[in-house]
Amino acid sequence: MSVIDEVLAANARYKETHDASLYSPSPRRHLAVLMCMDTRLLSAALGLDFGDAHFIRNAGGIATDDAIRSLLVSHYMLGTKEVMVINHTDCGLMKATEEEMHQIIETKAGRPPNMPVRFHAFKDVAKNVHEQLERLASHNWVRKELTLRGFVYDVTTGHLTEVPWECKRS
Ligand SMILES: [Zn+2]
Repeated sequence: MSVIDEVLAANARYKETHDASLYSPSPRRHLAVLMCMDTRLLSAALGLDFGDAHFIRNAGGIATDDAIRSLLVSHYMLGTKEVMVINHTDCGLMKATEEEMHQIIETKAGRPPNMPVRFHAFKDVAKNVHEQLERLASHNWVRKELTLRGFVYDVTTGHLTEVPWECKRS
């Protein structure tokens, strides 16, 4: 049995108790969280329950064009008012350079990519969070009514530390 088959079996049990009236497409606490896809980053560590927030996740917790697209939908269409950007210690994107990641994956794939890939590798996690906040703030649709704050999550201690950042949006 594959993991997907196990998930399907779990869903067959879950649907018996599902109550759609408990959930809304708009986050109950008007929060969006942009964070790494790392398995050690848990919504429970943030005190957030299902329905509380939008979680926009990718490798690294990077403010890519697509992450910004999702945040714009979250804010303008679904009413979120605050954004947390969370990167974490021991992130896989800190363990190789952009070039090394390309080489490793091209070797494993056995051929070069047929479309551009950028991994957004980084070395300094706090600096990386700062850069994501700057990138979000540089979009003229990310208005100042949308609070932006950045954090580093320590996967060893479970502690979240805010990255100082001054928002210069007009
Ligand atoms: Zn990560």
